[in-house]
Amino acid sequence: MAIIGNLFILSAPSGAGKSSLIKGLLEQNNPRPLQVSVSHTTRAPRPGEVDGVHYHFVSVEQFKKLIADGAFYEWAEVFGNYYGTSETAIDHQLQQGIDVFLDIDWQGAQQVRLKKPQVTTIFICPPSREELEQRLRNRGQDSEEIIADRMEKAESECSHFQEFDYIVINNDFDAAVTDLNTIINNQRLKQSQQVEKHNELLTKLAGKAI
Ligand code: GDP
Ligand code: ADP
Ligand code: 5GP
Repeated sequence: MAIIGNLFILSAPSGAGKSSLIKGLLEQNNPRPLQVSVSHTTRAPRPGEVDGVHYHFVSVEQFKKLIADGAFYEWAEVFGNYYGTSETAIDHQLQQGIDVFLDIDWQGAQQVRLKKPQVTTIFICPPSREELEQRLRNRGQDSEEIIADRMEKAESECSHFQEFDYIVINNDFDAAVTDLNTIINNQRLKQSQQVEKHNELLTKLAGKAI
């Protein structure tokens, strides 16, 4: 049987470091393929964001048509914009044995959990509220009004942390990437996955077909 990829969700208040941590993970040498799903959004691209790489940027009308066509695995309204994960974006990758990361909010996480109970969910916390605000400011991509709005929503996002399997505190960046790698490897070492990967060895050692 072919190895099916693992699905991971990363959620966090805006500015906690999700996008940077995922980038950090992808830049490391990984023994197995890892990809991040590219969401659709109706928010405007930030400076430096590329259509099809960071997001598929679409209009509200296009987004509503995609909802009507059943294209989304999950979608949610976040900070007054629509965000969604398309079905094809993840299923195709998982079938190829690729581990897929979703950077989505808690509402999206709830929807995916219902569809795929085997999903591994991770909540990223900043080391403090003050540091979160500082990071949003340092990122230098959002207006004061947007930063204030995101800080206001941070508490409600964080109030969902108990719905997640793992919590990673993103204080020291490299330590947080190591924590994420530990979670990924933990998942890959589970018996069901090892049986797929090492079927021949385990069959020989156990003296019976597995
Ligand atoms: P960030 O918080 O700085 O990463 O800002 P973004 O604009 O990239 O994301 C805004 C919000 O939308 C965050 O809470 C994300 O977790 C959420 N989000 C992004 N993509 C998706 C998605 O595909 N589905 C859902 N449900 N939420 C998403
Ligand atoms: P998110 O995707 O969760 O909104 P980002 O990855 O855009 O967050 O990170 C927000 C800002 O904080 C960025 O400017 C990033 O470089 C910075 N940042 C991320 N992690 C750390 C860290 N551990 N220490 C200091 N700054 C960080
Ligand atoms: P930003 O606008 O800063 O890129 O993203 C804001 C928030 O939207 C982040 O918390 C991010 O995780 C979330 N988000 C991005 N894409 C999706 C998505 O496809 N679905 C959901 N539910 N949330 C998303």
